[in-house]
Amino acid sequence: MAAHRHRWQVLLFLVAIILPCVVLVVLGLRMVAQERELAEKRLADGRRSLTGQLRQELSARLDRTALRQATTLRSEPGRALLRAYQDPAVALVATVADRHLVLPWERDPRSTRFRRSLDQDRFARLVARGEHAEIVLRDPDGAIGTYSEALAAASDPAQATWARLLRGRAALAAGRRHDALTDYTAVLASGLDIVDEHGVPLALYAATRLLETGGQREAVVDAVRRTAGGPRWLSPTALYLLRDLGRRLGRAADTAEEQSVRDLAHAIDARLARSEQAIALQRDFPRLRLEVGGGPSPGAEARWISYGTPAWLVGRAAALGGEGEIVVAVWADSLLPSIERAVVPPSGVSGQLAMASGDGTDGERLGDAFPGLVVRFGSPAAASEPGWGVRRWFYLVTLVLVVSVALFGAYLVSRDVRRELRLAELRSQFVSAVSHELKTPLTAIRMFAETLQLGRALDPGTQTEYLETIVNESERLTRLLNNVLDFSKIERGKKQYRRSPTDLAEIVDASARAMRYPLEQQRFTLTVAVQDGLPPADVDGDAIEQAILNLLANAMKYSGDSRVIELRLTRADGQAVIEVADRGVGIGPDEQGKIFDQFYRVPTQDNEGIPGTGLGLTLVRHIAEGHGGRVSVASVPGQGSTFAIHLPLGNGDA
Ligand code: ADP
Repeated sequence: MAAHRHRWQVLLFLVAIILPCVVLVVLGLRMVAQERELAEKRLADGRRSLTGQLRQELSARLDRTALRQATTLRSEPGRALLRAYQDPAVALVATVADRHLVLPWERDPRSTRFRRSLDQDRFARLVARGEHAEIVLRDPDGAIGTYSEALAAASDPAQATWARLLRGRAALAAGRRHDALTDYTAVLASGLDIVDEHGVPLALYAATRLLETGGQREAVVDAVRRTAGGPRWLSPTALYLLRDLGRRLGRAADTAEEQSVRDLAHAIDARLARSEQAIALQRDFPRLRLEVGGGPSPGAEARWISYGTPAWLVGRAAALGGEGEIVVAVWADSLLPSIERAVVPPSGVSGQLAMASGDGTDGERLGDAFPGLVVRFGSPAAASEPGWGVRRWFYLVTLVLVVSVALFGAYLVSRDVRRELRLAELRSQFVSAVSHELKTPLTAIRMFAETLQLGRALDPGTQTEYLETIVNESERLTRLLNNVLDFSKIERGKKQYRRSPTDLAEIVDASARAMRYPLEQQRFTLTVAVQDGLPPADVDGDAIEQAILNLLANAMKYSGDSRVIELRLTRADGQAVIEVADRGVGIGPDEQGKIFDQFYRVPTQDNEGIPGTGLGLTLVRHIAEGHGGRVSVASVPGQGSTFAIHLPLGNGDA
């Protein structure tokens, strides 16, 4: 029955406490998870927005650049020959003709002018004659004469410079070094802007010769530097020649000059690299499948691809005036950082534009318009979620708090329930105990009374004995009923003590007298010791007697084989102390605190055979405390117990 109920209680407990706790924890965890999801979503949104901004900005910048180059090309075609465009990020602007890329140096009008100039009838004939004398007839002196004629007949600087170059060569062949140097020096001075059909400035040929003959080193260095540093694109042929010159100069340089010559070589290498990248682009161009976009139609999305190392962003745009298309290449390295600077990233997000590394795992693609570009995001900073850490702690602490409060409440409830359960159990035991206790004296009374009623021949001694037994058992019954009634009064809070000045010695004597018969019957020796001169106490005499009787009855019940009980009344510390001492079974230290609880009986084998209700000591304590006193016990198991009621004494005549 109890176990069954207990199981129900556990179930109820689970449902009422644990379930809400679990639900709470699950809800809390869900909330945390949702917060995190939200943060992730916010981050993803932020990244998408940043990517969009970068794409837009980049697209706008590149389109603007392309448009500006197209405009410039239309208004100043000569500009295309210059390496430095208005926009320093532009690496190359080339036109498209017949689906082929035309590189800047390929449309150099100076080359065309040079060819046309040299092809002039009279000059061309004189040059042909001079070359015949110099190369076929091996007559350098004759050639010098003819070249001088050509020089005199020259109608423009190109012809004059060319004639000097040829005459210098013939002079060298004729062994007239001085004359040759004079001619070459003149070419060096004037020929920087005169370019042959290979795009090579004539001055560079003169410089090569001068270097071979060991003259005019300073002028050579100067010409090389001016050519290399010039604003125009140079043809690859010119650049290779320039590089060759630069190397030769470097080999012969003294320490003072070394650094500047090395810088010069670097500059030439850089130009060569850029030209080579342009040539590679020209070669690959038909395969690149670049869409025409940007340019004059704003809003049209240009398609920009990355090309080469260092990376160029190459795009194709319509040229203005319906004249085909242009291709614009932009240095990615110099453009991308400025794009990043122009964008305001959403809070908590940071990202960089970068070239895709092929495997595509290194960032988010910028979009179809920019197949070679990705955005690399910085790891989300902790600061990106201000308060999230605090909030999370708040959740956790609240959760722990709520759960612990719930569990604590559950513990209290379960403790109460357990106590209630035990009490109910004790109460039911009590009912059977009381019934049992009532039965014994009633049986005795009835038996003796019936015997007397039959009026059998009984001697007067036996008759008296029977009557005494009946009286005695009735008294026991009365005591028992008093206990039960008092207890019920106490429980209902209705117990009142009618106090009046009372001589405690009399109460003690009365108690001893009341118990005389049962004590005698069970052959107990009761020693009563009363200290003289105690003042009367303000007590309810009946209640105090009831308490002493309870203690004496206990002493008899729990004496075991001992037959000695002492009853004492003394005075200590201004209090009256009534002691009942036995030499019986005693009480273990653990039990001493519990025996005063209602219905409590020490659960030993011996006690089970002894009738009792567990109310006697409860009443003793209540009576003592009801008089402003207390009850105490001193006991050693196997040696006996001493119970003491301490009562305050009126200061009366003390
Ligand atoms: P009961 O009706 O069982 O005697 P009490 O309240 O009077 O109820 O006593 C409570 C318990 O205390 C007893 O069951 C007994 O185990 C223990 N007890 C009381 N008095 C003594 C005593 N003098 N010696 C040993 N044990 C005692």
